[in-house]
Amino acid sequence: MILTLVLAMLLGAIVWTFLEYVIHRWLGHESRTRPNPFAAEHVRHHSQVDYFAPAWKKVLSAVLLAAVLVGPSVALGGAPAGCSFVAGLIAMYVAYEVLHRRDHTHPGRGSYMQFLRRHHFYHHFTDPKFNHGVTTPIWDWVFGTLQAPGTIRVPSKLAMRWLIDPQNGCVRSAYARHYELIRNG
Ligand SMILES: [Zn+2]
Ligand SMILES: [Zn+2]
Repeated sequence: MILTLVLAMLLGAIVWTFLEYVIHRWLGHESRTRPNPFAAEHVRHHSQVDYFAPAWKKVLSAVLLAAVLVGPSVALGGAPAGCSFVAGLIAMYVAYEVLHRRDHTHPGRGSYMQFLRRHHFYHHFTDPKFNHGVTTPIWDWVFGTLQAPGTIRVPSKLAMRWLIDPQNGCVRSAYARHYELIRNG
């Protein structure tokens, strides 16, 4: 029983990573689905980079998502497993929100977190048609939108604070292998 609940939660978390990809790619970056409320916020995030949609919209999205999913999930898996599935999915959604914000506000600890940042900032600064996944690059790989980040050229006006050495205004030496500033950008 416990194993079923844990597996249902895990499945919910995996399904969120898929939704994250779908929402970002097809609602955020596909011209045929625009305008839509997600794209409006997302375009602003791309142009300002440190802009994030207000918390109430994120809470409302989580509540709506849970409300839409709980009925079919309980019908398919029974109440305990169905609710665990939805709980896992919403928990991963929250993790995504935290991770995405921290990509922008904090340098990553460890090589995988630093890779996830480069994966995301390639999407921001090199080519927004690629690297849509934030919590994982797996769906980019599945759908053929995965690109190796290479050296990311960051416009100085949009540079993340953690990237810049306040002493000299240049990219911190720890990140200079992967990021470059465009001075008039
Ligand atoms: Zn971002
Ligand atoms: Zn985007």
